[in-house]
Amino acid sequence: MIQKVLIANRGEIALRIIRACRELGIKTLAVYSEADVQSLHVQLADEAICIGGPRSADSYLKADRIIAAAEIADVDAIHPGYGFLSENARFAEQCEKCNIKFIGPKSKSIEMMGNKSVAKETVRKAGVPIVPGSDGPVDSEAEAITFARKAGYPVIIKAVAGGGGRGMRIAHNDISFAKEFHVARNEAEKAFGNGAVYIEKYIEKPRHIEFQILADAHGHVIHLGERDCSVQRRHQKLIEESPSPFLTPSLRKAMGKAAIRAATAAAYENAGTIEFLVDAKGNFYFIEMNTRIQVEHPVTEEVTGIDLVKQQIHIANGEKLPFGQGDIVTKGHAIECRINAEDPARNFAPSPGTIGLYYPPGGHGVRVDSHAYSGYAIPPYYDSMIGKLICYGKTRQEALRIASRALNEYLIRGIKTTIPLHRAIMSDPVFMEGKATTAYMEDFFARTPPDVFV
Ligand code: ADP
Repeated sequence: MIQKVLIANRGEIALRIIRACRELGIKTLAVYSEADVQSLHVQLADEAICIGGPRSADSYLKADRIIAAAEIADVDAIHPGYGFLSENARFAEQCEKCNIKFIGPKSKSIEMMGNKSVAKETVRKAGVPIVPGSDGPVDSEAEAITFARKAGYPVIIKAVAGGGGRGMRIAHNDISFAKEFHVARNEAEKAFGNGAVYIEKYIEKPRHIEFQILADAHGHVIHLGERDCSVQRRHQKLIEESPSPFLTPSLRKAMGKAAIRAATAAAYENAGTIEFLVDAKGNFYFIEMNTRIQVEHPVTEEVTGIDLVKQQIHIANGEKLPFGQGDIVTKGHAIECRINAEDPARNFAPSPGTIGLYYPPGGHGVRVDSHAYSGYAIPPYYDSMIGKLICYGKTRQEALRIASRALNEYLIRGIKTTIPLHRAIMSDPVFMEGKATTAYMEDFFARTPPDVFV
């Protein structure tokens, strides 16, 4: 049984994992970089070990040092959180070899799903619809253009090793394709050390709807409903909610079944997410699987009442899922706003610095997952997300009202944040009517003067 967990992460997700462990009576070890000495995860964990310099490459991505820390402190398991080493198959394998439980899927599943074209081929064979395209990497421009014409313009060129909304280019015809193909390959090489790209039909104004999966080591795979993550800027999620205002019960059922087939095809174990794009007619297409806990997991927790991080630990312990598909009932509506240290009035320029006053909202229906506090100096080396505001109401309308109220209460002085942007979106008619697609933010910016975000 797991008695002590190393948390190979920082920020709000490290706190989230510490909380789950503490409630389960499990000891925690934080690892941290020199820039994170003042971080809350270091202060709240039972033990903490510094593993290197401020840059991620010198600390949170140093697998060997993390494993060494695990051995020194004699932990049974490592929780990787999201980002950093969470989807690194080699790291999971290293843990397996050192007899340390990796709280996540087996390295083989990570490897299979981490390569986007292998992932698509795997789920296609399991009968899950995928976006038409090259289905595998394309090397030459001539070969790529053939696929692009076959799929029909517009097409999207995606990095095989891509992630975080990066490494994607859209082309509308042969001429723009030739240019974007080379740009995409160069960018992919620089960002991911792998220049391989593949081609997909670009679905116009789709919704991004993903299903939360839980799978145990005994072959049980269930889903916990969906999250609608259509509100995105540059392919990066800003707001997520559950349930999706777009899905009908029959479409939800069909997509849930497809998600389970996809996870089963990957021999999946632990918590994971199957991401789909859904067009206006309700056709859905698998785009990728995330083999880790996601940033937006709390909205699922709020509507199902299930603590996903605790379930991850139970699964890693080899326990059977305590519920079946028929036991999963969702209730009410939850919405999450990502609070980033960025200036929405200045094209989302990063805004690191020292927080003056920090006052998070509270009250009925409000949950804040954040590592921020008054006087906290945000290091410039990491992700700009400093917190998540999750609001829960009996209906979508109530959840939105609670979110508006909470955003008005949320005080973060000394730095710029995305709070004013969220406030504007919560009262925007298109969003309020549940009509946002992935094209929503662009349209919203085009019709909203930037002084709204100040
Ligand atoms: P990443 O792994 O970088 O997050 P994804 O494949 O999950 O990349 O895609 C992220 C977002 O990019 C999607 O939510 C969607 O908005 C957009 N996108 C990806 N593929 C397509 C496509 N074929 N057509 C239209 N939009 C797409």
